[in-house]
Amino acid sequence: MIFKPKIWIKNVLSIDKEFLEKNGIDALILDLDNTLSLHGDPAAEEGIPEWLGKMNELGVKMRVVSNNTPKRVAPLAAKLGLEFTANGAKPLTFGLNSAVKALGTEKKRTAVVGDQIFTDVLGGNLAGMISILVDPFQLEKSLPFRIKRSIENLVFRRDLKKR
Ligand SMILES: [Mg+2]
Repeated sequence: MIFKPKIWIKNVLSIDKEFLEKNGIDALILDLDNTLSLHGDPAAEEGIPEWLGKMNELGVKMRVVSNNTPKRVAPLAAKLGLEFTANGAKPLTFGLNSAVKALGTEKKRTAVVGDQIFTDVLGGNLAGMISILVDPFQLEKSLPFRIKRSIENLVFRRDLKKR
């Protein structure tokens, strides 16, 4: 199913050496808002810089692909030492595909990690990459977001089991 993540985890901190080996992952395309930081927060969430350091030690290639603006994405990506694509237009695949080219990895060994089914998971699946859904750090308070979350929870997460 095109909306179904290949893997569902609590957050990126669940990704470690064993997880990467087990799932055949060499590279991570990371969403920003609610995946590495709270929505709009200029700082990353607790533990994220240390986790990125561990991933770097393991030789995992990483890049941020966010649908948010360069103004939002650039400062935090720079702070975290990550290359990035802003205005990524997920679930369209061109941003994800160019990110894979920039990383120099194979699509089938590259995971797209994010908190949204309709952008991150759908985009990853459409691009032929490994889709990984994380729980958002914070559920957005705006009504459209809440409605979307309810639909996701009702329709798509119902039969999923979190690892
Ligand atoms: Mg997000």
